[in-house]
Amino acid sequence: MSQTDYSFFGAVEQSFNKAAQFTKWDKGLLEQISACNAVLRLRFPLKREDGTIEVIEAYRVQHSHHKTPCKGGIRFSTEVNQDEVMALAALMTYKCAIVDVPFGGGKGGIKINPKDYTPYELEKITRRYTSELVKKNFIGPAIDVPAPDYGTGEREMSWIVDTYAAMNPDNIDAAGCVTGKPVSQGGVNGRRGATGLGVFYGLREVCNMPEEMGKRGMTTGVEGKRIVIQGLGNVGYHTAKYFQAAGSKLIALAEYEGAIMNEDGLDVDAVVSHRKSTGSILNFPGAKNLAKSGDALELECDILIPAALENVINGENAPRVNAKIVGEAANGPLTPEADEILLSKGILVVPDMYLNAGGVTVSYFEWLKNLSHVRYGRMEKRFQENLHGKILEEMENLTGKKVNDDDRKFIKHGPDEVDLVNSGLEETMINATRQIMEEWKGNPMIPDMRTAAYVVAINKVASTYTQLGIFP
Ligand code: NAD
Repeated sequence: MSQTDYSFFGAVEQSFNKAAQFTKWDKGLLEQISACNAVLRLRFPLKREDGTIEVIEAYRVQHSHHKTPCKGGIRFSTEVNQDEVMALAALMTYKCAIVDVPFGGGKGGIKINPKDYTPYELEKITRRYTSELVKKNFIGPAIDVPAPDYGTGEREMSWIVDTYAAMNPDNIDAAGCVTGKPVSQGGVNGRRGATGLGVFYGLREVCNMPEEMGKRGMTTGVEGKRIVIQGLGNVGYHTAKYFQAAGSKLIALAEYEGAIMNEDGLDVDAVVSHRKSTGSILNFPGAKNLAKSGDALELECDILIPAALENVINGENAPRVNAKIVGEAANGPLTPEADEILLSKGILVVPDMYLNAGGVTVSYFEWLKNLSHVRYGRMEKRFQENLHGKILEEMENLTGKKVNDDDRKFIKHGPDEVDLVNSGLEETMINATRQIMEEWKGNPMIPDMRTAAYVVAINKVASTYTQLGIFP
């Protein structure tokens, strides 16, 4: 299949169908689960700063309403098209189901390269897109809740919440119409790095499984593991930070202009500041430049983490992938053909639809915060600190020994918002990893972890439909 014929939604459906045969659900119900419920295709004009008028192409897809609201990011990229947004929305349905986040899948996209527009123009585009979604009833805390994705971040989410709130002045829950907002505008501490932290927790859990590591001749734990990461945006950067902090070695980092490698390990913050000051990741002191950015995907390493865009490992380059584990931080970085090739090479693929669920999990926490109108930790932090302090004092009196200052600080510390958010995320990712692995081990016919993840997702979505009495 040529790369132009490739359908991302078709690939998601293919993975879905592969997994569906391992479930007991009725054919019609399976069809309903995999179908895209609603597709909104928009065209609207932008008057640019130079006075010219341009037509902007945009989408919002609601893949499933088995639970509402729908949830999924908004992407700004020239690659955006209906097929891509449908695929990403479908992945969101399965992702939310796996991590027990009570949303249906959604996704949005605007076909632009944000680098080609001024901040003023981007604001106009984002606000107009939001008002179109309001007009069509495609956004709202109970309807459909966007979030950041490729090419968007906190700034765009602020424009969205401000536009929505201005058009819905009587909605006391308006802040819950979008997540990934700055903390000053109803965001939650910990959201920015959540997807990367989730990727880290998910892969750490896999690395802690002696059986999986043993099969690949690897030791357990992430310390000392040699990591390659493609894409240093929100997801890639934070993933790199957490692996580095845990003692792994970042042996190569790739951006779209090129890739660098250093067997002794790269410091991600130093690389990012080098890129900021020189405009390129290349020529980083002490590192070797790779001829092509994509070459990084073929380096020998323990864990390869594509964290940029879909379809980067395909039938052409998959035979040359030389990692023991591939952790899909991006959505859809492997084509189904690549999946088969990596499977035959014994490479463990940890699938996107749960591995990068950290963002939506913490988005769920943000949405709950918005609906409850209170920050996490506000009620219990002081109480817990007083309680811990009292227990410590009693223990010291009874034993006659003093706890050292560092331990005292740790024990007395009551939870801040970020502590609660990160611990909720850790719990979620560990549970999801174990559920998928149990499903996989429970049925020797299931060929890979992606199929096992789909089986878990299908079972959860189908159970919701049957509980709702829609398909008795
Ligand atoms: P981002 O825009 O913050 O970063 C993407 C980075 O990838 C950019 O730095 C870009 O320059 C780089 N890049 C683009 N093409 C490349 C190439 N060919 N080689 C190397 N680098 C390249 O986007 P993001 O939010 O980090 O999203 C990345 C991926 O993760 C996407 O697939 C997205 O759908 C997925 N994802 C994001 C989130 C989130 O919370 N942001 C959550 C789940 C999944």
